[in-house]
Amino acid sequence: MEKYFKIFLDGYYGYWNYLKSEILYPSWQNYFYWLVGLSLLVWLLEIVFPWRKNQPIIRKDFWLDAFYMFFNFFLFSLIVYNSLSNVFVEVFNDFLGLFGITNLVAIEVNSWPIWGQFLLMFLVADFIQWNTHRLLHRVPWLWEFHKVHHSVEQMGFAAHLRYHWMETIVYKSIQYVPLAMIGFGLDDFFILHIFTIAIGHLNHANIRLTYGPLKYILNNPVMHLWHHAKHLPEGSHGVNYGISLSIWDYLFGTAYIPNEGRDEPLGFEKVEEFPKTFWSQISYPWLRKKS
Ligand SMILES: [Zn+2]
Ligand SMILES: [Zn+2]
Repeated sequence: MEKYFKIFLDGYYGYWNYLKSEILYPSWQNYFYWLVGLSLLVWLLEIVFPWRKNQPIIRKDFWLDAFYMFFNFFLFSLIVYNSLSNVFVEVFNDFLGLFGITNLVAIEVNSWPIWGQFLLMFLVADFIQWNTHRLLHRVPWLWEFHKVHHSVEQMGFAAHLRYHWMETIVYKSIQYVPLAMIGFGLDDFFILHIFTIAIGHLNHANIRLTYGPLKYILNNPVMHLWHHAKHLPEGSHGVNYGISLSIWDYLFGTAYIPNEGRDEPLGFEKVEEFPKTFWSQISYPWLRKKS
C-alpha cells in the first residue's frame, strides 16, 4: 500500500516538474509550445480562409474551449491523472505477477524498422479510438460524458479539446492492454501526438478542407462537421466516428456526407438547455436530473 502511495506522490511531483520545465524551457520536444503554436497556426488559417464567413473570429465559447484545451492536456494530468495512472499500471502489473506474467508483449516489434513501428502504432491506436468513440455514442451513460464535446454549436479549432476528463480515462484504459501487447507505451511517439493534435485541430476548424482523394484516408473538417450535426440519419447513433483516419468509417459503412453541410445546425436535441460553464458541464453527468 505504501509503495502505491509513493508512486502516486512521485507521479505528482514528477508531472509538476515536467510541466514547469515544459513552460520554462521551450524546445522541439515540447508539447506545451507545440499545442500553442499549432493552435495559433490553425486559428490564423481560420481567419485568412474562413468557411463560414459570418462566424466571428472569437466564436461562441472560444474562451471556454481554450480553457478546456489546457485543462485536458496539462492540468488534469497534474491534478490526478498522471499519478493515478502510474498507480493503476503498478497494481495491474502486480496483479499479472500473481499469475507469473511479467510482461504482456505478444508481438516483438522492436526489431521492426522505426517507420513500421510508427505506422503500426498509428493504425492500431486509431482503430481502437474509432471503436471507443462508437461506444461513447452507443452506451447511454458514456454518451452523457461525450455530450460535453457535442455541445459545440459553432465549430472552430479549439472545440477539438472540449471534452469531459472521463473521456481521457475511458480512451486510455481501453488502449492500454492492446498497445502493451505489441510492446508500446502510450507515449512512445512524440511526433504521432503532434500529428494527431494537428489533424484534430483541423477537423474542427472553420476551414473548407477535404484533402482531395485522401479524404478516404484522412478525417477532415467537412466530414467531422457531419459528426457534430444535430440531425442524424433516422435510427443511427452517430456517423463519421473517425479520429485521425476516415478509412474505418468507409470500411464499416458509417461514413455520411450528404452535402457540404457548411451551415448545418450542430449539437443534439435540446442542446440549448445544456450547461454553459466549465464546472457545470463537468459535473453534469452526475448531477443531471434523471428523466
Ligand atoms: Zn462523437
Ligand atoms: Zn469533434
